[in-house]
Amino acid sequence: MNLLLIRLIIFAVLFFAGLKLYRMYREWKLDREGPRQAGDAQANRMVRCRWCQVHLPEEDALRVRGDWFCSGDHRDKYLAERQEEEQETHHEQHNDKRGE
Ligand SMILES: [Zn+2]
Repeated sequence: MNLLLIRLIIFAVLFFAGLKLYRMYREWKLDREGPRQAGDAQANRMVRCRWCQVHLPEEDALRVRGDWFCSGDHRDKYLAERQEEEQETHHEQHNDKRGE
């Protein structure tokens, strides 16, 4: 009976020692990798393409008047569509004046 108790105590001590070592190792690892990861996160800030809604790193994106785009193609499509919308509203106004 005493032997069983001693074994249990030894097991418990080993368990907590292992847990503490694991926590120390994890903190040490975080300390070592923390600053580098933070730097990467800053360099790779994600933005969203206005046209296809895809997320990409800021450094790979194109910026036009506060909007982000994943490629020049999508930037051109978005700007072309916006121009068409503007032309359509002008056209409607013109029609109103003619009374159609
Ligand atoms: Zn896109």
